[in-house]
Amino acid sequence: MLTISAGHYGKGTGASGYMDEGEETVSLVQELGKKLQQKGVKVNVIIDKQSKNQQQNLTYIVKQHNATQREMDVSIHFNSAAAQQKDGIGTEVLYVNPAISSFAQKMSTEIAKAGKFKNRGAKQRTNLAFLNGTAKKAILIEVCFVNSEQDVKLYRSNKNQIIEAIAETLKSYFPNTAPAPPAPPVKPTPAPDPQTITIKALQQKVEAIFNDKEAVREQLKLGIQIGAFQPLWLENFDRGQLTLYDYIALTTLQYQKNISNV
Ligand SMILES: [Zn+2]
Repeated sequence: MLTISAGHYGKGTGASGYMDEGEETVSLVQELGKKLQQKGVKVNVIIDKQSKNQQQNLTYIVKQHNATQREMDVSIHFNSAAAQQKDGIGTEVLYVNPAISSFAQKMSTEIAKAGKFKNRGAKQRTNLAFLNGTAKKAILIEVCFVNSEQDVKLYRSNKNQIIEAIAETLKSYFPNTAPAPPAPPVKPTPAPDPQTITIKALQQKVEAIFNDKEAVREQLKLGIQIGAFQPLWLENFDRGQLTLYDYIALTTLQYQKNISNV
């Protein structure tokens, strides 16, 4: 169980450059939440829709994280450099509690790999409200830099892979996570094929006629009388050796004889 949040509260509330941090963190966290659920990871998703300034936003996020049941707190941000630049700058993951530093390093590596970013690695930061205020082990992910043209281009092309990498890495922190049970397959009872019904009904009718031994015997005698087939078929019938197939075949011969006699 973990809790994730967007580090800002909508468009224009974070850094901006080739894309808008506030807007993109909200979108990324929503998609990450869905991805984690698909992977069977229990997740609380926090999106701030009420704050009016950065201070309110930080207070809100920390309070909401601490109100949830979880073993880890994760916040999503995008980074910003002093000036816009063409070159890539990369991914970094911030933490304050040394117990989570190797996990932060792993997260940075995996995001950088998925997004083809430079890997700036894990960095301990002791002055961030989110890391200091949340009660569980926490990481703050700076996916890439909004004012690096290259980073934003890579982010846009690799967004799905980045979300997948973050989700997989978070999942790996909870080794006992059972995958979400697959929805039971909808198994409609197949409607009987009309053709099948027709064939079945025909078979039953013919069998009923064949089982009326007296009527069959009279019919065979008649067939012999008109010369449709040999008397040995009646002998076979009397010995119990006439099959249903024989009977149908003899009936066909009898029918043909009748027609040719007309
Ligand atoms: Zn930020």
